[in-house]
Amino acid sequence: MAKNKKQYAIIGMGRFGSSVAKFLCDMGYEVLAIDDNAERVQDVVNIVTHAVSADSTDEEAMRALGIRNFDVVVVAIGEDIQASILTTLILKDLGVQKIIVKAQNELHGKVLNKIGADKVVFPERDMGLRVAHNLISPNIMEHIDLSHDYSIVELAAPTAMRGKNLRELDIRAEYQCNVMAVKRNDQMNISFPSDEPLLKGDILVIVGRNEQLTRLEQAYAEP
Ligand code: ATP
Repeated sequence: MAKNKKQYAIIGMGRFGSSVAKFLCDMGYEVLAIDDNAERVQDVVNIVTHAVSADSTDEEAMRALGIRNFDVVVVAIGEDIQASILTTLILKDLGVQKIIVKAQNELHGKVLNKIGADKVVFPERDMGLRVAHNLISPNIMEHIDLSHDYSIVELAAPTAMRGKNLRELDIRAEYQCNVMAVKRNDQMNISFPSDEPLLKGDILVIVGRNEQLTRLEQAYAEP
């Protein structure tokens, strides 16, 4: 294992925690999986680098595991909100550099931010929004929030765009959005010629203000 690779500890081997752990291991990172349920530990023992059964609300147990030496600790305890908050506080006290916590709801998220979680994630809420967004705008393949106001979207070239080139579409003037790249046949082209007609299957990678992106999506919405 390369020495300069980041080391991660994941607390809670539910569906979310175990997918994070598995993906990081697949990418070649060193992962310590922690769960107070021995069966859950057993489930991942052959997948992760190390797996231990421990209660993350037990400060001494966390200290003994050397939790502060990990670059990032992910708290993936879902239902037991009290355990999630207590764990985050303990990790903070022990001096963990970066703590990422899965929140059950907005209030839980607020508390986690207040006590110093570096990042709070809402997987169920975000996936729900994504699915709903995709139902309304099926041409939007991907949506990445850059800030509260700006996003990057991947837009499958709607029928009305096909056969036209970027100069004719003039998305920058019409919608104040920038086409950063065009993906064609799985190839990303970051300097797509402005006189090249768009084809069926092309995907435009566009950056802009959210309201302008929505205006663009609606203008090209297809039944
Ligand atoms: P998912 O939706 O990701 O499956 P979930 O929201 O249902 O997860 P839980 O099942 O409540 O989340 O918790 C995830 C895991 O966290 C469980 O395997 C549970 O045993 C573990 N866990 C809960 N409390 C603690 C604790 N104090 N210390 C260590 N592990 C814990």
